[in-house]
Amino acid sequence: MTDGPAGRPALRFGARSLTYGELASAAGAVAGGLARARRVAVWATPALETAVAVTGALLAGVTVVPLNPRSGGKELGHILTDSAPDLVLAAPGEELPAPLDELPRVDVDPAAGGTFPDDRARDPEDPALIVYTSGTTGPPKGAVLPRRAVAATLDALAEAWRWTGDDVLVHGLPLFHVHGLVLGVLGPLRRGGSVRHLGRFTTEGVARELNDGATMLFGVPTMYHRIAEALPGDPELAGALAGARLLVSGSAALPVHDLERIAAATGRRVIERYGMTETLMLCSSRWTPPAPRPGVRADGEPRAGTVGVPLPGVELRLVEEDGTPIAALDGEGVGEIQVRGPNLFTEYLNRPDATAAAFTADGWFRTGDMAVRDADGCVRIVGRRATDLIKSGGYKIGAGEIENALLEHPGVREAAVTGEPDADLGERIVAWVVPADPQSPPGLEELAGHVAGRLAPHKRPRVLHHLDSLPRNDMGKIMKRALSGG
Ligand code: ATP
Ligand code: MG
Repeated sequence: MTDGPAGRPALRFGARSLTYGELASAAGAVAGGLARARRVAVWATPALETAVAVTGALLAGVTVVPLNPRSGGKELGHILTDSAPDLVLAAPGEELPAPLDELPRVDVDPAAGGTFPDDRARDPEDPALIVYTSGTTGPPKGAVLPRRAVAATLDALAEAWRWTGDDVLVHGLPLFHVHGLVLGVLGPLRRGGSVRHLGRFTTEGVARELNDGATMLFGVPTMYHRIAEALPGDPELAGALAGARLLVSGSAALPVHDLERIAAATGRRVIERYGMTETLMLCSSRWTPPAPRPGVRADGEPRAGTVGVPLPGVELRLVEEDGTPIAALDGEGVGEIQVRGPNLFTEYLNRPDATAAAFTADGWFRTGDMAVRDADGCVRIVGRRATDLIKSGGYKIGAGEIENALLEHPGVREAAVTGEPDADLGERIVAWVVPADPQSPPGLEELAGHVAGRLAPHKRPRVLHHLDSLPRNDMGKIMKRALSGG
């Protein structure tokens, strides 16, 4: 996956960096040590060693299972039993918790030199990665991602975003999910460009790197929220973002309020892309140079609240509960997103039941996400079928638009919406709100009136809970199970 000229920068993590030549050498050393391994775990800290370990293992044709260093012993135990890696690759000095300490360990040295005869024919269907899903809706499942899927998704993104070897990515995401690892590390390496990882995301780090020649930023919505909050008092950040070529958000819905605040302060619209561990990337707005005149929408320019159109090679349809495809592009017909394409996983590891249930008889993958399509084909995600679609008073109501409306209220810092059983309505709308000022939290009547005035009366919350913070996972995704369960 490394095809840049030898002297070009490839990876930078804090003060440490590797050129393409040095990376080839370090990855070659890793690959040489894995001759007999078939599948390896990588202790995926946000460090140079992780990127070198993954590159080396892929060079050797070995399957990588990235591990979240923040997962607890129970989750680690589940992943290790499920994926049965031969050994674990880690940075020297990293202390590995039980039960990982029982596995043979190989330390990764980014300064090591080695060559690996890359003369084995690789089958595109060979598994490159086994990535565990985020566990937002249930225990994480191991998605087996073949080399073909990784290549297909990165090439589709390159086309959609005109991503080239001249791009320099600012990266502040963890490396154990597809967003940070496949898009954030393998993506730039496939193009021959470079990555600068911040270690830990900070708005100062983003501003510094963008002002120092970086061209693009990949983030999750919680990062763009922090950027939106920081912008009014940080002209340096505003200037840095204004000069970026591409700002991309994904992994969860980007609140429209944050997108609009960033656009107002920087003149740049964040592009939303939609994907899953199982499918890699599915939809995104196309990147086009900024519109020639203010107020003129360039073709394919991002639209607030949509994730754009299917990426090249991705087939996408919306399907009603009874299996009928929805043809209309009217922004009204809500259906499940089903997809086909070369970017898809092959199976859930050791879960033939779950794999079979995830596909229709004619081979479409059921994403479990619900959406509508606008007249121009843009996909607008309503939410997950399981947690975000509220059936109330004969209506199907998406949690997302109510959350967006709540976030526009000055008294609301964070918001999540769920449904709960209601004898009269079927389900009633419940709002979970982190107030901007805990001393004077907005009341139910106030927020219900705000939502009813913006959307429609039947979309107003009937129950309100105030919280100090929302339960979120490592990707910043709201864990709705934890909300409605407790
Ligand atoms: P699990 O499958 O274990 O419950 P998960 O679905 O959160 O967890 P991921 O594969 O990391 O695990 O996330 C994919 C999901 O994230 C998608 O199905 C979708 O619900 C959500 N998602 C990703 N990008 C976006 C986006 N741009 N807008 C809205 N939702 C998104
Ligand atoms: Mg999922």
